[in-house]
Amino acid sequence: MSDREIMPIGVFASIGAGPGVSLEVVQQLGLPTVHVLAPRSDLCTEAYAQEVRNEFERARIEITLVFCSYSEESYETIAAVQETVGLAPPTTRDDRIEQTRRTADFAAALGAPGLGIHVGFISEDRGSAQFGELVRALRGLCEYCSAMGLCINLETGQENAVTLLRFLQEVNRANLGVNFDPANMILYGSGEPIRALRKLGAYLRSCHCKDGTWSEKPGEEWGLETPLGEGDVEIETFLSTLIGLGYEGPLTIEREISGEQQARDIGEGVKLLERLKKKLLDRA
Ligand code: MG
Repeated sequence: MSDREIMPIGVFASIGAGPGVSLEVVQQLGLPTVHVLAPRSDLCTEAYAQEVRNEFERARIEITLVFCSYSEESYETIAAVQETVGLAPPTTRDDRIEQTRRTADFAAALGAPGLGIHVGFISEDRGSAQFGELVRALRGLCEYCSAMGLCINLETGQENAVTLLRFLQEVNRANLGVNFDPANMILYGSGEPIRALRKLGAYLRSCHCKDGTWSEKPGEEWGLETPLGEGDVEIETFLSTLIGLGYEGPLTIEREISGEQQARDIGEGVKLLERLKKKLLDRA
C-alpha cells in the first residue's frame, strides 16, 4: 500500500468470471485492496497474469492474496466440503498440489504476496495418515512458494482452532499462516470465532470480514451468512481483537452472494468498518 494505511479496507473481487465483485464495483467503492480467486490452473498463464496485473495497477488497487480453487469442489453441504474441498481428499491431492504450484506461479506474476488455500478438513488425529500426508503436502508447497517470496495463508473454518494450530506447528514453515475468517468458524460450527482468533494469533497474516449466524445443528448443517454486522461474529470485538494482536493488514470484506444486493451489502460493510476503525484506532 502506497501510504501504508493501517488496516486498509478491501473486498473479495473476481478476475474474469468467478465469485466476488467486479473491478468496477471495487473502484466505485473506492477500495485500495482486494483478495482474488485464481482462475482454473490451465488459464493461469503468464500473459493473463500480466493483463490482470496491468488492469489492477492502472486502477491503483493492490492484490493482497490470491485464492486457489480446484475443479470438482462442492460447498453444497458440510459433508460435501469434507469429501471434495482442498488438499484433504487423498484421490485428488497430487493433481491439486500441481494446480497449486501453477496458481503460485500466477500469483507471483501478478505481483501478489501470497496464496490463500482452503485446505479442506484437517484430521483431529495428528497420528493419522491424513494428518501426516497433509503436513508433507504443505511443507512442499511452502518451500515452492518460499523460493518466490510468497506466503501461504490457510483459510479458517473447517476445523477447530486447536486442530489448525497443531497443524501449523507441525508443518513449521515461516511462510505458513492463516487467513482468519470469523464467519466460517460459525458457519461450519467449529468454534467461537474471537476465542479461535486469539488462539491462532501468532499465525494471523490476513483476514476476511464476513458475518453469519449459527445453525441449529452446528457442524452438521451450514449456518447462515449475513451482511456484516448482522450475524453472531460481533464485528467490533473482532476488530478490537485484531488490533490487540498487532494486526495492521487489510480488512477484506467477503459477501458470498451475487448481484446488486452483494454490492449494496458490501457498501454498508465498508461504512461499518470505517466507523469502527475510526472509533477503535482513535482510542488505541
Ligand atoms: Mg473467507
